[in-house]
Amino acid sequence: MKTIALLVHREKRPNEMQNPRIFIAALALLLGTMPAAAAPSVLTTIKPVHSLAAAVMQGVGDPVLLIGGALSEHSYALKPSDARKIETADVIFEIGPDLETYLTAPLATLGAHAQVIVLERTPGVRLLPARHGGMWEDGDEHDHGPTDPHIWLDPQNAIAMTRAIAAALAKIDPAHAAAYRANAVREIAALAALDKELAAKLAPVRDKPYLVFHDAYHYFEARYGLKPAGAVTVAPDRPISPRRVESLRDAVAAGRVVCIFREPQFSPKLIETLDEGTPVRVGVLDPLGADRTPGPGLYPALLRTLAQSLTKCLGTAKNR
Ligand SMILES: [Zn+2]
Repeated sequence: MKTIALLVHREKRPNEMQNPRIFIAALALLLGTMPAAAAPSVLTTIKPVHSLAAAVMQGVGDPVLLIGGALSEHSYALKPSDARKIETADVIFEIGPDLETYLTAPLATLGAHAQVIVLERTPGVRLLPARHGGMWEDGDEHDHGPTDPHIWLDPQNAIAMTRAIAAALAKIDPAHAAAYRANAVREIAALAALDKELAAKLAPVRDKPYLVFHDAYHYFEARYGLKPAGAVTVAPDRPISPRRVESLRDAVAAGRVVCIFREPQFSPKLIETLDEGTPVRVGVLDPLGADRTPGPGLYPALLRTLAQSLTKCLGTAKNR
């Protein structure tokens, strides 16, 4: 700020302005001490969204992550430090209120300053209905919303989300608009290549039935034509009914699934009671990247690991 005052001061004195050396020295001082325009404060909810935002912001700044570690994308309890993150954010990228129900109230109060971008309402994001019936629901529970919120597990949706993130950032921070747009173009090309790669990799296991822990993979399965048989739990934040455990055990014992996939966010105990004494295989599927370091590389690594876990567990299994 001092240098600006100096320059303004000198501009008021024509005799000194006529001396180009003084003018250039003042200008150099000004350019040398002015910090580069600061990136906006960007808050993202889950790791995959953080990863896409980090890719768009490369070279400009780093987005902040709300839900790190191996926590579930459902039923998150905000900490005091999270409240601060929401309060200081200029822009918040979230999937939407169907997933981040815990954010609806805090965003209305704490996030008054921030622009909230709801990615599930972004143009180009294809929404799928929540699955019902058969092994996708517990007879005792009917509380899921009409739309499946796990939109990020389809790379085509990730492309639309990347576009939306870049557009929002360019609008809020025009000084870096060119960088956001260039990063988005590169990221979208990488996501399109990843999509093709995964389609080829998963083609051989398309007809193998399996159980997932919770119904998080609808988008991935629809994109690559997979044949899941059902989910172990409908509401991952609540215990499942004894009747459901029994019907799942029957399905496993009858050989109607070749693999059961657990998730790192939840205890493996339940799965152990299901596979006991049966030849079913147990794999791990992780919809969020629990053990992964947040950053631009997380999203492609997350999807490649999903494909790898599926092909590894289902690949050599015989259809029964
Ligand atoms: Zn989920």
